[in-house]
Amino acid sequence: MDGFYNHNATRISDCSKTISIKIFDTTLRDGEQTPGVEITPRQKIKIADQLNKLGVDVIEAGFPSVSSGEATAIREMVRREYDSKVCVLARTNKKDIDAAIACGAEYVHTFIATSPIHMKYKLKMTSEQVMEKAVESVEYIKANGMFAEFSCEDATRSDYDFIREVYARVLDVGADVINVPDTLGVDTQNQYRRRIRRLFRDLNKPFISVHCHDDYGQATANTLAGIESGARQAHVTVNGIGERAGNAALEEVVMSLEKQRDGYKTNINMRLLKETCDVVQKEMGVLIAPNKSIVGENAFTHETGIHVHGMIANRLTYEPFNAELVGQKTRFVIGKHSGKHSIEATLNKFGYMLDRQQLSEITSRVKELGDQGVKVFDTDLILIAKSLTGSAEKVFVSIDDLQVVSSMKKRSAAHVVLRMDGEKKEAEQTGVGSVDAAINAISKASGLRLKLGNYNLDSISGGTDSYGLVHSRLSDKKGNEYLGRASSRDIVQASVLAYLDALNKYLEIKSLSKSKNSYKPKTKVKLFHN
Ligand code: MN
Repeated sequence: MDGFYNHNATRISDCSKTISIKIFDTTLRDGEQTPGVEITPRQKIKIADQLNKLGVDVIEAGFPSVSSGEATAIREMVRREYDSKVCVLARTNKKDIDAAIACGAEYVHTFIATSPIHMKYKLKMTSEQVMEKAVESVEYIKANGMFAEFSCEDATRSDYDFIREVYARVLDVGADVINVPDTLGVDTQNQYRRRIRRLFRDLNKPFISVHCHDDYGQATANTLAGIESGARQAHVTVNGIGERAGNAALEEVVMSLEKQRDGYKTNINMRLLKETCDVVQKEMGVLIAPNKSIVGENAFTHETGIHVHGMIANRLTYEPFNAELVGQKTRFVIGKHSGKHSIEATLNKFGYMLDRQQLSEITSRVKELGDQGVKVFDTDLILIAKSLTGSAEKVFVSIDDLQVVSSMKKRSAAHVVLRMDGEKKEAEQTGVGSVDAAINAISKASGLRLKLGNYNLDSISGGTDSYGLVHSRLSDKKGNEYLGRASSRDIVQASVLAYLDALNKYLEIKSLSKSKNSYKPKTKVKLFHN
């Protein structure tokens, strides 16, 4: 089945030479330099564990001279004996390199700026002094028996003959990898391609690494241009986070190499891409845009009627590769662009068969909601279908009372009283904040443990008395999703009511699938014919 979706499969196997590209992940170094991002050593280790599981070749763990927490985290990563190599960043001075050595890492990445503007205004050094520092540092790293990677910072704004000379000299003293950063993301693909090709040729095919920034949105394209010109390693970050506009995104570079191009492979376990991007999103607090390639919420979501019609016949009509390959899921969102086909397919997926009349009614109801700006989830659709048969909406679980104690020093605590099937259910729980404590208490009281996939709080108008609008999305064990919405002047209450809204949808659909109703199918229809 995999081969079926892999449109490159035959071509790749026909290709006599497959080039292996090393993935050097700098999420924990350049990624941590994202404006506004600060993470604890514990969070760093959590991300490093995930990167190791994902299969990156190198984890650039940090810059130990920055803080003692940084050094502690790096030492812990070294202690964990990952399959990934742990690399430490150091400026070209003895103190930084000694700090790197003290972490126990075996891989040091050292750098010095080589562009006229950086040498004059930042370093206040002549090009001779820069050359000397570069050579001395690589010599020192190699004398300590370590793996050495060297970067000319701002290489793309440096004089070509100068960087060629610097790279030649550091290679002479044993540098294992030379990295060519496009520090400000200024190169076009043609410029970067030519630069890497010239270095590759002029320096007698050294092991070249590329490091591209996204100031013009070209980081991934430039990384690939560099690889096509002879580079064998790419510096990337998960979700493309990094200084300013960020770095080349790991997931984009990996998938472009593995699926879009012929003849390249990486050691990445692609099925863990989505999971890894979610871990980094959560720990670093930098949200993934819905339209982000590969791992965005919408990357495999289809709404328009024509697309969905094609997708039902064959998924490759509107997906470049199947979503599961990167740990994603194909989703259909129902909206005003949706046609009868997607509505029917969605209802069929849940086992509901409709006649033509019912389908038309539901479709026009969905379009009406779309015009009102309402996003309709799969599970909402079933409830719309049900409401058209005239059965009233039932409240399965409601809230009688909620008390929350919030503290700056201790965990927050919540006490909740629910009414479920006429019975009173109470529970107390703690949480990292008021909302978390309240939701934990509801889970405990109701005995329902659904996974909270997404939680969104918007405030309507400014001020502390403004309305908080909450959307929360729960998913059950089968992966069905339930969207709850609520608004209140109290954000904890809005959160709890949105959560209960989603829980009620879950319970309603659960009860529907148990009862015999007019939408019960005669035959089960499979959504995908794969
Ligand atoms: Mn950088």
